[in-house]
Amino acid sequence: MKFGGSSVGDGRRIKHVAHLVKHFLDEGNKIIVVTSALGGITDLLLKTASKAAIGVDSAYIREFIINLAETHSQAALDAISEQTIASEVLEKIDSRLGGLERVLNDVCYSGRLTARSLDYISSYGERLSAPILSGALRLEGVNSMAFTGGEAGIVTTSDYGNARPLERTYQQVQERLGSLIETSVPVVSGFIAKCEADTVTTLGRGGSDFTASIIAAAIHADEIWLWKDVPGIMTTDPKIVPEAQVLHVISYIEAMEMSYFGAKILHPRAIEPAIRHGIPVRVKSTFEPELGGTLIVKEEKRIASTVKAISVITDMALINISGVSMMGHVGVAAHIFTTLADAGVNIAMISQASSEANISLVVEKNHLDMAIAALQSDFKNGIIRNISYDKRIGVVAVVGSGMAGMPGVSGRIFSAIGMAQINVIMISQGSSQHNISFVVAIDDAYDVVRALHREFGLDKMEILYE
Ligand code: ASP
Ligand code: MG
Repeated sequence: MKFGGSSVGDGRRIKHVAHLVKHFLDEGNKIIVVTSALGGITDLLLKTASKAAIGVDSAYIREFIINLAETHSQAALDAISEQTIASEVLEKIDSRLGGLERVLNDVCYSGRLTARSLDYISSYGERLSAPILSGALRLEGVNSMAFTGGEAGIVTTSDYGNARPLERTYQQVQERLGSLIETSVPVVSGFIAKCEADTVTTLGRGGSDFTASIIAAAIHADEIWLWKDVPGIMTTDPKIVPEAQVLHVISYIEAMEMSYFGAKILHPRAIEPAIRHGIPVRVKSTFEPELGGTLIVKEEKRIASTVKAISVITDMALINISGVSMMGHVGVAAHIFTTLADAGVNIAMISQASSEANISLVVEKNHLDMAIAALQSDFKNGIIRNISYDKRIGVVAVVGSGMAGMPGVSGRIFSAIGMAQINVIMISQGSSQHNISFVVAIDDAYDVVRALHREFGLDKMEILYE
């Protein structure tokens, strides 16, 4: 079971989480808990790290450390009403903060913030939260100990900020935690690990889900439960369509297609170890634990509706590259992609019509300037004549494994959009056919989502599950 940042937002919530774990333990389960940092703490650490790099004084850092200690001590005191356990936890919090203050001061004096020290600094959220949750479990009478990711056996590459587990992680985690779950509930810090050189690494933002699925794969868990502040994965963003429904069951592939396109509930990499071992993943809300949430499984469940979800993102930009001599010219695409890759630009969507006269790409908005600069400096050879871009776009993805091999789905999508008098700027469908994505003007994006949600009857549960 992994608990996200808002689920462990403060002492009261941590207490609630401990109750939940105890409840499911009493039902006869064996559980390993993975915890995120207290909500907002990772952001705060990252912000403070960059402030330190541009120069603040050590008094500022001192005050930050005092506040951080205060927040966590308060959470510990609220979650743990028993003196002995509470002071053990408080001691652990205090002893850990010295290292953080030292590194922040180093960053401050040197003016240099390396990826390595950034990982060290941002690891503190999870280092501090795990002992508190473990203490709250002990208060419930549950035998529990806290571990950092490294202590739990997760060893990674040294790609700071985006580290990947090495293969021997799986055996190590099994060795360290496998027998402990017979008699206790280990609490592991999510997001953080260490590399072979023994320095702290992190698994990327939102990485606690990844930690949970690495551990589940290692111990061959029956299920992974990701406890969040949402009732599950939904047909679309309920802020756009209030009638959006929670999906009861979806497949790994659908979940991955959705997370790529801004559902923001789950990062695809987080379920990769689960997929490899065929472990079902359940997304549930700590605030409404009685609801079933969404179960993500291997088998694609055929449902009456071919489309299950519609997602939209608006922080993207469209680049259009054209030139008559691109037609039939070997290596143009390779050149464009290499140029962009070298500039560190991530490409989210690609489309080229068979005339080969232009290639359209969608990139993150904050990569746009880099992308344009790289393309312009590179193409003086005349093959590409034109590079234009558009920042005011929305990328919509229509997802559902039932779409594969089903004639008429794209017809319905684009008729509904046409009926709503909305213009489509770019279209892309991978041949897996689980996702049709297209670009519209930013002002049309939410209207498109509403029109399609209605068209495919996603507000009616009976359409989703017969
Ligand atoms: N605390 C980390 C973050 O906010 C990891 C996580 O919450 O999963 O990105
Ligand atoms: Mg977090």
